[in-house]
Amino acid sequence: MLRPVRKSSKLENVCYDIRGPVLARSKQMEEEGQRIIKLNIGNPAPFGFEAPEEIIQDVIVNLPNASGYSDSKGLFAARKAIMHYTQGKNIAGVQIDDIIIGNGASELIVLAMQALLNTGDEVLVPAPDYPLWTAAVSLAGGTPRHYVCDEDTGWMPDLADIRAKITPNTRAIVVINPNNPTGALYPAELLKEIVEVARQHQLIIYADEIYDKVLYDGRSHASIAALAEDVLCVTLNGLSKNYRACGYRAGWMVISGDKRHAQDYIEGLGMLASMRLCSNVPGQYAIQTALGGYQSINDLVAPEGRLTRQRDLAWTLLTAIPGVSCVKPQAALYLFPRLDPRVYPIQDDQKFILDLLEEERVLVVQGTGFNWHQPDHFRVVFLPHEDHLREAIERIARYLERYRKL
Ligand code: PLP
Repeated sequence: MLRPVRKSSKLENVCYDIRGPVLARSKQMEEEGQRIIKLNIGNPAPFGFEAPEEIIQDVIVNLPNASGYSDSKGLFAARKAIMHYTQGKNIAGVQIDDIIIGNGASELIVLAMQALLNTGDEVLVPAPDYPLWTAAVSLAGGTPRHYVCDEDTGWMPDLADIRAKITPNTRAIVVINPNNPTGALYPAELLKEIVEVARQHQLIIYADEIYDKVLYDGRSHASIAALAEDVLCVTLNGLSKNYRACGYRAGWMVISGDKRHAQDYIEGLGMLASMRLCSNVPGQYAIQTALGGYQSINDLVAPEGRLTRQRDLAWTLLTAIPGVSCVKPQAALYLFPRLDPRVYPIQDDQKFILDLLEEERVLVVQGTGFNWHQPDHFRVVFLPHEDHLREAIERIARYLERYRKL
């Protein structure tokens, strides 16, 4: 009798629903020949949002030089370009050594939590969140404590809730700005208040700013690290969204603020970076050109740009459905609509979106997959072309109409 091979108990509380069982069912349906409209993953390339040509050419030209390992923190030229980028965002005092390049921000989020947490340590994570943060805290043995972002204030972090969730074990606060899944963009005044809380309670700020150029209606982004010169900040960014290059796996972390008391942690980060030798070198070659080159994202988010048009269309069509409301996103690639529980008394939102998939062949992600506490939201990615978006939302509307008549 073979001994069963079970996953580690470390994974017990780890959950990552964006690529969970509903996606598995969708793949199966595609293999059976069904056509699914996918509004589930923020991966621009399959929807005709190619990476800028100069980045692709740079990677091609440099491929012959990219077969060896790089420095474990990353190529010097790429880190220098990131250093200049942080200067452009008014983040003070960042040196080359304060920058670590990784296989996407994802790898660095996991690495940053592994280097920090002991059992019992708590990290404040937004609800809703990009669920990798909650999963990474749990995997590292920590406890995620979710603070609420308030839909009634345009999904702004609720400062009173943040304060209420702090305990002697709280080590850090995660700020995802611009936010996935809500599309919220936080004003500097609010960020300053979060910094003040971190200062008072000696929390590290983890700032996930991967969408800091995907901004609509002429808005601008303030980096929280620029407002926190005396607080330890770890800012994460990369090429995946701003440069539509998810597959290059090129992300980075920047350590800023007062580092004097954090040398031990910073050493830990360096050790973990060394243990995985280095991040994908061809992807690193794209960084300098991307940051210094033509910022084609600006064309996509201009008033008549493709992303703006798709955001507007998806928002207009979704909010026209009875019982559906949605804060209009100011940034990023997502809508997070609310289903009025009086109209849609959903008990299990995973089942709800699985039924949507089975009946209408549209794939979205349930709100609880983003650690939202009620089964009354879902996330829509507005990357598909307008005709596909329209078709998908018509199907969602048809499904919801049947649900109302049940
Ligand atoms: N952070 C947020 C908020 C995201 O939405 C994503 C991807 O969707 C990531 C990080 C991961 O980025 P990367 O491709 O650099 O790993």
